[in-house]
Amino acid sequence: MIATVLDGVECARAMEESTREQAGALLARGIRPGLGVLLVGEDPASAVYVRNKTKACDRLGILHETVRLGVDATTEQCREAVLAFNRRGDIHGILVQLPLPKGVDTDAVLLSVDPLKDVDGFHPVNAGLLLQNHARFVPCTPSGIMELLSRHRVELPGLRATVLGRSNIVGKPMALLLLHANATVTLAHSRTRNLPEVTREADLLVVAAGKAGLVRAEHVKKGAVVVDVGMNRIEDASQARDLLDPGRFSEFEKKGSALVGDVHAPSVQEVASALTPVPGGVGPLTIAALMRNTVKAAGQ
Ligand code: NAD
Repeated sequence: MIATVLDGVECARAMEESTREQAGALLARGIRPGLGVLLVGEDPASAVYVRNKTKACDRLGILHETVRLGVDATTEQCREAVLAFNRRGDIHGILVQLPLPKGVDTDAVLLSVDPLKDVDGFHPVNAGLLLQNHARFVPCTPSGIMELLSRHRVELPGLRATVLGRSNIVGKPMALLLLHANATVTLAHSRTRNLPEVTREADLLVVAAGKAGLVRAEHVKKGAVVVDVGMNRIEDASQARDLLDPGRFSEFEKKGSALVGDVHAPSVQEVASALTPVPGGVGPLTIAALMRNTVKAAGQ
């Protein structure tokens, strides 16, 4: 069996199309959706993510403004930047790009985001609303994945779904969304015993562990749908040879690095019925979901 590729780019484009219509309807009422971004430090990956998000704003006519603080910024300076966005009438959504530098209290900064502008859905009020199945802003990565599953008509009620990873931004909200969609959900993590046995039970496996190539054929039930959230940059040639197909490996040799997921695609695609690629899978969906949340924030 060779797994169907679950194309995140195409699904993201469709999501953007409907967001563009909603943004247009708001513009007609004199409201231009606006996103405020806080980027702290010099992490090159974060800079790329922010650039991709602001480019998406440009495509959809969403106003955006990025405040940049140095790597030595204090928690208080980060909070001040967020509070300034909270006060602005033209900024409807606020994005604090994570990770923040080591010295900054991330929870304190996220807590200062106005819950009505919390388009990432990380504020405890929004996390609580999601827990109780009254979601207002759903975290973007799990929200985009739900869209992909719905587009590919994955029947969730009664399905055995396993989420690997329990972070507040991906694993936990993903598990909650699947639960609310009536799947039977298992949440696996770094302390799970006999991981391959646990994940092999799943008809749907969502992997968000942050470990390149962790999930291999032995972890996957025949015919399962596998969603790979991982985004890992690898620089080791033997790891690249193991994880990449020949085309991408020669690209790796030129660049010296490559972006890979948490799933060992060459072996898993022989077992799964469908698999998201990296890149071109979950990444674009996350951005499309952020745009959707921003327009929703502007319309409330
Ligand atoms: P995290 O580090 O906060 O959480 C990782 C989770 O995986 C933890 O709960 C841990 O228990 C579990 N884990 C780690 N090693 C494990 C192992 N060997 N066996 C079983 N479980 C293990 O990470 P995160 O923020 O949830 O992100 C996970 C991955 O998803 C990262 O690669 C990140 O870059 C990527 N990510 C991608 C997007 C996207 O848009 N594509 C968005 C967010 C995160």
